[in-house]
Amino acid sequence: MIPYATQTIEEADLAAVRAVLTSGWLTQGPAVPQFEQAFAQVHQMRHACAVSNATAGLHLACLALGVGPGDWVWTSPISFVASANCALYCGAQVDFVDVELATRNMSVAALSEKLQQAKRLNKLPKVVIPVHFAGLSCDMAALRALADEYGFALLADASHAVGASYRGQPVGSQWADISVFSFHPVKIITTGEGGMVATNDAKLAAKLELLRSHGITRSAALMEAPPEGPWVYEQQDLGFNYRLTDIQAALGSAQLERLAAFHAQREALAANYPALLAGLGLVLPEVPKGYRSSWHLYAVQVPEQNGQTDRARVFHRLRELGIGVNVHYIPIHLQPYQRRLGGFGPGYCPNAETYYRGALSLPLYPTLRPEQQQEVAHALKQAISA
Ligand SMILES: *Cc1c(COP(=O)(O)O)cnc(C)c1O
Repeated sequence: MIPYATQTIEEADLAAVRAVLTSGWLTQGPAVPQFEQAFAQVHQMRHACAVSNATAGLHLACLALGVGPGDWVWTSPISFVASANCALYCGAQVDFVDVELATRNMSVAALSEKLQQAKRLNKLPKVVIPVHFAGLSCDMAALRALADEYGFALLADASHAVGASYRGQPVGSQWADISVFSFHPVKIITTGEGGMVATNDAKLAAKLELLRSHGITRSAALMEAPPEGPWVYEQQDLGFNYRLTDIQAALGSAQLERLAAFHAQREALAANYPALLAGLGLVLPEVPKGYRSSWHLYAVQVPEQNGQTDRARVFHRLRELGIGVNVHYIPIHLQPYQRRLGGFGPGYCPNAETYYRGALSLPLYPTLRPEQQQEVAHALKQAISA
């Protein structure tokens, strides 16, 4: 089976993990800040806070931005459920902004219209969570302008977008108040489980760090009362244990060193697909000028006729032929839990639903071989013409 995504583990990763295992620090040691600093540097950001996974990171980011009961948080329906759950953990209510068909990212026009309505109803969101789908940045300058006009915070779910860029700058470096990245094995770099919450705002960074570890500080400079001795730690807020281990951080640092190579490999492989898939009638992903995708996913759409697609049949046939395709994502607002909670249903985000009906993610990862891409294309031809 050719999977749709998989990690790339090399000797350098094994050496880094082996070294940390015998270093005396398995967690709360120096490998974590080393990884944070390297990550912040690559993304041209001032602060990066490593966390146990991106879901935990999104939760902390919402808390740091002050999300709580009575607040509204808006996100994109074409994402993993974690993009919405983070607001629910804080007691807020979630709503969805439809995507643009061309990019599958949050539509600026739809957001603008929804904000005008929300303003009249006095229900403006506290935080909006755009998602850089498949590694393609959202139009962050336009989203920033709306954030400033309407007074909400921008929390980017950059889980797919490690090392991607927008207007010549790394994703996260500007525009968003906070960006959250994932290191799950299917993503761009991996730590097994893991995530990073990055911001340029020192106050938000301090809050994130506190909440990541029980709301506790061990730094005398940050304490509310002068410490009686070096054993003193202060709990100043209700936090969690959302820490990344040193073992994971060492793996992350080793992976990060090969980020440019991973990108080049993904980009080259993505560039092979259009010629291989020509004539099949598939809608292929496009990268607009001024954007550089991290190519986390190669998501195509099986064409639609009279509101129906062949996607299910194509999906089954490809799986039978050993091609591990997947679907990203079932629109979040159509999940039973969200329907019950927010009264959402079909028709609420028509573009997201149209995209989903044809959505199919083809294999793409650094060690995928061009011959395997030919195999994917050959299988697709069989599946579609059958
Ligand atoms: C993977 C992913 C997450 C969750 O990441 P974890 O690290 O697995 O918690 C959140 N949002 C999106 C868009 C993702 O793809």
